[in-house]
Amino acid sequence: MSDFIREVGKRRTFAIISHPDAGKTTITEKLLLFGNAIQMAGTVKGRKSGRMATSDWMKMEQERGISITTSVMQFPYREQMVNLLDTPGHEDFSEDTYRTLTAVDSVLMVIDGAKGVEDRTIKLMDVCRLRDTPIFSFINKMDREVRDHIEVMDEIESILKIQCAPITWPIGMGKRFKGVYNLYTDTIHVFTPGQGHRIPDDIRIQGLDSAEARDFLGEMHEELVDEIELVRGASHEFDLEEYQAGRMTPVFFGTALANFGVREMLDDFVRWAPAPIARQTDTRTVEPTDNTFTGFVFKIQANMDPRHRDRIAFLRICSGKYTRNMKMRHARIGKDVKIADAVTFLAGDRSHVEEALSGDIIGLHNHGTIQIGDTFTEGEMMRFTGIPHFAPELFKRVRLKDPLKLKQLQKGLQQLSEEGATQLFMPLNNNDLILGAVGVLQFDVVRQRLKDEYKVDCIYEPVNVFTARWVHCDDARKLEEFRRKCSENLAEDGGGYLTYLATTRVNLSLTEERWPEIEFRATREH
Ligand code: GDP
Repeated sequence: MSDFIREVGKRRTFAIISHPDAGKTTITEKLLLFGNAIQMAGTVKGRKSGRMATSDWMKMEQERGISITTSVMQFPYREQMVNLLDTPGHEDFSEDTYRTLTAVDSVLMVIDGAKGVEDRTIKLMDVCRLRDTPIFSFINKMDREVRDHIEVMDEIESILKIQCAPITWPIGMGKRFKGVYNLYTDTIHVFTPGQGHRIPDDIRIQGLDSAEARDFLGEMHEELVDEIELVRGASHEFDLEEYQAGRMTPVFFGTALANFGVREMLDDFVRWAPAPIARQTDTRTVEPTDNTFTGFVFKIQANMDPRHRDRIAFLRICSGKYTRNMKMRHARIGKDVKIADAVTFLAGDRSHVEEALSGDIIGLHNHGTIQIGDTFTEGEMMRFTGIPHFAPELFKRVRLKDPLKLKQLQKGLQQLSEEGATQLFMPLNNNDLILGAVGVLQFDVVRQRLKDEYKVDCIYEPVNVFTARWVHCDDARKLEEFRRKCSENLAEDGGGYLTYLATTRVNLSLTEERWPEIEFRATREH
């Protein structure tokens, strides 16, 4: 086996999904701790930990107690190299989250043991299911009085439609929480409180039946033996293939806050989670072990770190290797570009990458030519598929307080919409700037960032738009006719694509009926 193939096989690229407050941020921090990557300079939101980037819009995030940013963290763990892609937790940013999930090979689902399956988790699981993404589960907050664990697993099985295979099982909970028992290695992992901020001691007792175990558990021993017997009978046995096919989830218990049970989960995660998987393009399937470089952009973000006031396009490498100063083909525009200074997020800090390979994420400096969904290759003209934009559901007209700053406003809106959280529409018939978003909060974020980053004050006005549809038609003459007759409702989006802005649901369906040759698409794929 070549070194390259071996190295690719070590990659574990994943994201964490959860309902807000289940413990995603807390567990992320613990994972970074185990990866010796705890200097979380700016990339991890530290709203509860005091490490905070200083830009104003991040302050807004802090105030609202939500996480807006997506970041990438790479760290080695045991034999493997882990790439953790953070996803925004707030519902308004679901589109962003969706696209991040297209860039990972597996997912860790964190569930609050006291609450069980919650809304947001259900939605995110739906997204994962589209691609049969393998799921690890961590049931959190065992240091509290939580719900009956078997009931929570039943809920996962029935609501999320995935089989549960408990790997570890908690011993007690709340004040009586004593650790976890591994059903497969017959080992008790002993919990020592007060070690939440560091790598906890690794104390193990081999054998539930051992004298040491009886001694350690005291009167809880018999109770645990009975419970384990019940659990074994009531749950599925772990099957690696079923897990990798997305039909079964291994379940782990613990407390992220007290940093217990996380290592036990991570140890199995790096063993079982899939290495980079093959990806589909419009011309062929790309294998991660192919030698030539390919990748796609799933996220664009500005101003992650106040010291680097630039925009970064996050690219998932799907095959081959990135090396410094390499030439890449920007497939959408058919141009070669030299990439000297890609960034990575190794050990929580943005450093220059000399080399990165399939499964890794690199950050490309973007000066306006890169869009979400763009494919980069070593010369091949192709396009990775399945990275959509969704039609926004909310629209506002953007007006300037100072009309002299129109250029800046346009530039700002254009650049912010490249990040994909909002979309800009410019009507063909007038000079309005219409902003579309999937959630209300994004409007506030845009206004704040326009102020901070582009020095323009704007106000929003209501606009009579119900929804947007991307217009497609192979017949150029028909399209031209449509353009002429319906120009009042037509606009170009930030990427220059023609869109129909419908005033009402009825307006949309009437137009669709009147123009059967025209396709009105609710998503746009690059
Ligand atoms: P996120 O919204 O999913 O990122 O959740 P956070 O990681 O920010 O956690 C939400 C709240 O739950 C915070 O107050 C955490 O301190 C708390 N929390 C997280 N993990 C645990 C845990 O294992 N036990 C307890 N008792 N609280 C926890």
